[in-house]
Amino acid sequence: MEEIQKELITDNLVPLTRDLDPSQIYTELIAGRVLTFEDKEKISKIDTRKAQSMELISVLLRKGPNAFGVFMDALQCTQFKSLLEVNEVENLCKNPLHLTLLCLLHIETDVRTRTQTELYSEIHDFILRKVIKRMKLTEEDIEHRLLRPLYQLAFEAFENGEDVLHESDFERAGLLSEEVCEVGYLARDILIRGIKQERRYSFTHRTFLEFLAAKHLVLIAAEERLKWLRKYYFRANSNRVEEVQRLRFSLLFRVAENIVAFLFGFLQKHPDVLLQMASTVIDATLDRKFFLPFYNSLSLPDGSLCPPSHVFCRLLCELNTMPLVLVTAIAKRLSLCIEVSVGFNCSDRCIKGMAIMYNIRPLEPISIHLNIHTQQYTQTNVLLLRELANSRNFDPVCIHATDNQHLKSCILALRIGKADSIKNVEIIKSSICKDIAPPALPFGDDLRGILLMKYDKWSTRRFLEIVSKKPLIELGVVDCDLDDRCKRCLSNLLLNRDLQSVILVSKSQHMGRFLGRLTGLDKLQKLHISLKEMDQAERQNLEKIMKNNTLQELGLFHCEYFADLCNILSNHFSRMTALRYFYVVISIDFQPIDRILCNLHLLRLQEFKIQYDRLIPEMCKMLKSLIQLMNFQLTYIHDGTLTEEGFMPLQQFVDQRVGFSCIDHKTFVKKMRLEVK
Ligand SMILES: [Zn+2]
Ligand SMILES: [Zn+2]
Ligand SMILES: [Zn+2]
Repeated sequence: MEEIQKELITDNLVPLTRDLDPSQIYTELIAGRVLTFEDKEKISKIDTRKAQSMELISVLLRKGPNAFGVFMDALQCTQFKSLLEVNEVENLCKNPLHLTLLCLLHIETDVRTRTQTELYSEIHDFILRKVIKRMKLTEEDIEHRLLRPLYQLAFEAFENGEDVLHESDFERAGLLSEEVCEVGYLARDILIRGIKQERRYSFTHRTFLEFLAAKHLVLIAAEERLKWLRKYYFRANSNRVEEVQRLRFSLLFRVAENIVAFLFGFLQKHPDVLLQMASTVIDATLDRKFFLPFYNSLSLPDGSLCPPSHVFCRLLCELNTMPLVLVTAIAKRLSLCIEVSVGFNCSDRCIKGMAIMYNIRPLEPISIHLNIHTQQYTQTNVLLLRELANSRNFDPVCIHATDNQHLKSCILALRIGKADSIKNVEIIKSSICKDIAPPALPFGDDLRGILLMKYDKWSTRRFLEIVSKKPLIELGVVDCDLDDRCKRCLSNLLLNRDLQSVILVSKSQHMGRFLGRLTGLDKLQKLHISLKEMDQAERQNLEKIMKNNTLQELGLFHCEYFADLCNILSNHFSRMTALRYFYVVISIDFQPIDRILCNLHLLRLQEFKIQYDRLIPEMCKMLKSLIQLMNFQLTYIHDGTLTEEGFMPLQQFVDQRVGFSCIDHKTFVKKMRLEVK
């Protein structure tokens, strides 16, 4: 479970153990795979219901990332169902826990009815109406004498990292705590420390503190507000590992996000103010290039977490209307990203916000790589995904499949392969997936590309059979287990002369036997391949492919016997005039690649990327190949292979040229990366 989720549950431990009946939610928890039958047996043996609840919660706190979602769903399914159907806020206010859960459930699942700001404002109005009656004061009086000071106290508490108010806070503000408590936001409790008793005043839930703090921020000058916002939303310095890591895990942005969400809701009628806030947030949370994985197969967990840029998506959910100035700002922001992710811990609000952004018209037509990682596949999620896909901006889409059901509903929701929808799909088997691919999948008849990653031989064959009648122009397998039947299937698919892109990558398997088929593809523009020891026929086929000179992109992944390969390649470099992108990724210990590096200048490359364990000594030999390049970036780490003598010539070379740079990412960037654009 996430830290923040654990916190939410422990925050509400007292009311939860009081109200929860574990026997009502076992079924949902077991079905959701967060509780085992053994867990249930163990808990049922405990005497009292309260102790059972306590044990159940402590078990849940130790469970995986989807435990919280399943638990919330289970609560919604059973005892709180009737509660949620009651629209009257009055009943809810009698029990702070119910109110809290309602708010949580609302935030987590129901993003299509009311915004968070609207919900909290309704509760606020309700509390206000009550207090007007009770205290026999005018609304004006209450607002100025009690509420505004309370807003300020809430804001100060937030800034000091406090959840509660102390007696001294009221004294400092010249207020009577009794009177402020009458309003109804605060609950009094006594804290005993030794012989000392201290009175504390807590908010029903932290979100209320944030709501009230946001109300304070609405009242202060725009300049002050912006200054406050910039404390939480600023551009991380990419040279400071600490800042980058905080950004990476969105810690920094989460702190004030609820308050900013309320501000968006409150200030939506003021386009200029909204735009200033939006620009600040967008600027601080843009996903930077250094987050992008070098290659999908090498850094799979990348993109599986909700990315920092989603802060802005979630904030958009608070707006009922979209001011024109914001539309322009969003269009500018969208033009900057080529890859978009739905992480497994993304909320519905992330997807909803993305759908809002990408459905803005008129938007220049763009092709964005959409990554979908999801484990808690709920019904609302599917509907929102369809809304997102409606924008027609995504292609290809990459699905990280956790099970067959999820895969099927994803393909259906995104209408993959349908004439007017996404035509290219990448399917990655998640490490937790236990299913073998089903014999049929609902792809449309216009499917143009499929890439499979990390699949077992049975699933791989099924996928290949399913797509055998589709008009493919892109086909790929990466790190899939290929048995003879799979290989026969693949060979047959490679008879398709329309293929423009073929990816045959594997850490352990030699793909040489497919080279013969590849020589027949006269439209082949992109080839990623893994080659081990080649026989004479395979060598000749490789030469033939290079002589065809159709390749614009060549990637060599996990290749062996490089001396041989280097000879063939560098002998043909001068003929490969179409080649613009060249990638080399080597995972095995030492391979002599200096011949490739030294002859690079014979190619007309736009981009060259290399990932290589022993980069530095080799790189020094290729300096003369780099001279023709306009841009060059090396990101390095200090490890055993990087000696002072090896590095100095390179550093000097880089220092002398405009557009060339060398960056130390310390241990944060674990991979060496050489990038030429
Ligand atoms: Zn997200
Ligand atoms: Zn991809
Ligand atoms: Zn994944």
